[in-house]
Amino acid sequence: MAAPPISRRTFVAIAPAGAAALGAQSRAESPGFEARADALLKQMTAEEKVGQMTQVTIDVVSRDAPPHQLDAAKLRTAIEHYKVGSILNVMGHAYTVDHWHEIINQIQDAAAKTRLRIPVLYGLDSIHGANYVMGSTLFPQAFGLAATWNPALAERAGEISAFQTRAAGVPWNFYPVLDIGRQPLWPRFWETYGEDVLLAKEMGNAYIRGLQGSDVGAKEKVAACLKHYAGYGLPFNGKDRTQAHISERMMRQYFLPTFEAGVKAGVPTVMVNSGEIDGIPGHANYHLLTEILKTEWGFRGFVVSDWQDVERLYTRDRVADSPKEAVRMAVMAGIDMSMVPNDFSFFDLLMQCVDEGSVPMPRIDDAVRRILRVKFMTGIFENPRPDAGMKTHFDQPAFAEASLAAARESITLLKNDNHVLPLARGRKILVTGPTAHLHTVLNSGWSRSWQGEEEELLPKDKPTLLDGIVNAAGKENVAYVPGTSFDKEIDIASAVSGAASADVIIACLGEHSYCETPGNIDDLTLDAAQLRLVAELAKTGKPIVTVLAQGRPRVIRPIVPLSNAIVMAYLPGLEGGRAVADILFGEVNPSGKLSFTYPRYPNALTTYDYKVNETLEGNHIDPEFEFGYGLSYTTFAYSGLKLSSATLRHDGELTASVEVKNTGARVGKEVVQLYVSDLYRSLTPPNRELKGFRKVELKPGESQTVSFTLKPADLAFVGLNNRWITEPGKFRASVGKLSEEFTLL
Ligand code: BGC
Repeated sequence: MAAPPISRRTFVAIAPAGAAALGAQSRAESPGFEARADALLKQMTAEEKVGQMTQVTIDVVSRDAPPHQLDAAKLRTAIEHYKVGSILNVMGHAYTVDHWHEIINQIQDAAAKTRLRIPVLYGLDSIHGANYVMGSTLFPQAFGLAATWNPALAERAGEISAFQTRAAGVPWNFYPVLDIGRQPLWPRFWETYGEDVLLAKEMGNAYIRGLQGSDVGAKEKVAACLKHYAGYGLPFNGKDRTQAHISERMMRQYFLPTFEAGVKAGVPTVMVNSGEIDGIPGHANYHLLTEILKTEWGFRGFVVSDWQDVERLYTRDRVADSPKEAVRMAVMAGIDMSMVPNDFSFFDLLMQCVDEGSVPMPRIDDAVRRILRVKFMTGIFENPRPDAGMKTHFDQPAFAEASLAAARESITLLKNDNHVLPLARGRKILVTGPTAHLHTVLNSGWSRSWQGEEEELLPKDKPTLLDGIVNAAGKENVAYVPGTSFDKEIDIASAVSGAASADVIIACLGEHSYCETPGNIDDLTLDAAQLRLVAELAKTGKPIVTVLAQGRPRVIRPIVPLSNAIVMAYLPGLEGGRAVADILFGEVNPSGKLSFTYPRYPNALTTYDYKVNETLEGNHIDPEFEFGYGLSYTTFAYSGLKLSSATLRHDGELTASVEVKNTGARVGKEVVQLYVSDLYRSLTPPNRELKGFRKVELKPGESQTVSFTLKPADLAFVGLNNRWITEPGKFRASVGKLSEEFTLL
């Protein structure tokens, strides 16, 4: 057993305060930008500064009636009178590239007429592609992308999203979501890279590389925005924008590392958690926004509020007793730009605070300097207008291929009894269920519109699940009966009678499209109607393949034994219908692995890194499917786990290597996962923690040795003093069922 904490040698693993936080190569670090920002700031009036801190939605400057042209008078009011620095969003739904060009040109023309000609920074939520630009590529949503365990696919998705967003003339993307999804009820669960910090960090960093490259001012790149800082992913009751209870230690252990990595990777903007932590609303959290983000990490970019959240310190959170106090509180906590977004109240109220001195000018200057830096960094001072030339390359066949590749590698085979999959051609198939023939269910929220509910906005030439099956199996072999809607029975009896002439049933289940608060649910269990559909079909004795298109792991316990195969499709994007069919018919060998723990019971929620006490004295861990789990059409065997040494010095490193062999008859990809368990520590250790992963492709009979390097910093945890420390003692490294112990000296 390790010695008591007091005598332990500790190792502080975090970067020192003030580390170069916009990235060493970042354009925002250019002394030229700094000098220009300073020079500009000196010329600015208080109104011009406060205007820069104000962000409104496009509705504020648009005509009410479709096709939502900008309203010249409203635009003048916003830009000339209120001097707004930023505009966001779409009015209802996505625009064509041409429409975007018109909008951005009009906005930048208006900005060019102002005294200092400061361009407006337009921001969009390109969440799984440039989803607010018609014709753009839509990728698997994040929790599915994470299930590929292939950062190269995330980087490519980021690259294409950046290209298509910038091609529309928009230089700023409110993405990636770096919240950790440890509460599966939460309707934004699917926007995360899952429950594990390392996986989320690796996928998030890759996505950022794709979005920003080494220069966010390059014409095919955009500035990213890390959101939602921090602790948004663990609402106590699972409802969006509600209270979470996260101690400083847990915050640093689970919810800050992805953000710190994003800051170090050079992301110049951060959006704030719309909920509250331990009674402190995200937007009033001086400790997180100023002390940690700006001071400890040295973040030099700017902090933008989330939607209306400054005002909500008064209207919802009740920590401010007036709208003006809400503005003062938010700005003094560290908010640099307010997504107001529907009016100019923030501008008026912040001017009052400035006039009466409750918000001192140095705080305003600091905020504006940060905003100007980012404007310089994105290159919009030099090139405020969209690049008309990018339009011709907007859609490229390689983009859809990248989305298809990501979808194929994300789809996760959860059950496959008696090799029911892949399906042989020529068999008669009954397709049923509410997600069988809709595009929206494959894309969900942030797909052409906020809630992504409009079928007509998604391209008809992209296959639904049913289309994909028909394309693969032939029309003559496929019958389709809806069976149920999401929560109501339609014609279960017809589905059952249709099954009589089928060799196999494909039940397409899951969720309708949603995001944020409208996606709140009271029960993680899949709707009763869908469960009954499978239960009734099972009575026919025909094999059932259950396909799940859903944004969170809805509990399916009653139908797991009734399904011969289960395929988790996540929200696979526009190519999802094709990708699922490729898996079902064996064109592609599945290689996705869950990025979260799939619960068996709605009230037995936990994560893979649970504590020992969750397994003792009547407690047990019994998920439906484990984090990191996923089957293949081939088999893999692990052997020979070796550590380069039985000890690890505090300044040394250790290599863990393992041989993985394809022991089946098909080429396949396997995700080799290295976990480490700290056997004893001063704070209860998690059961195990992911410390490395590598995806390898192996031919039948082929084997490969995969090695991971472990350093003491990889074994660090947030200790009693709330700092990252390591403690000497015994650890266990494991890959698959193999494990080896070592000692940290
Ligand atoms: C969401 C953010 C998003 C913003 C702007 C908010 O409701 O929480 O994630 O970036 O809207 O659309």
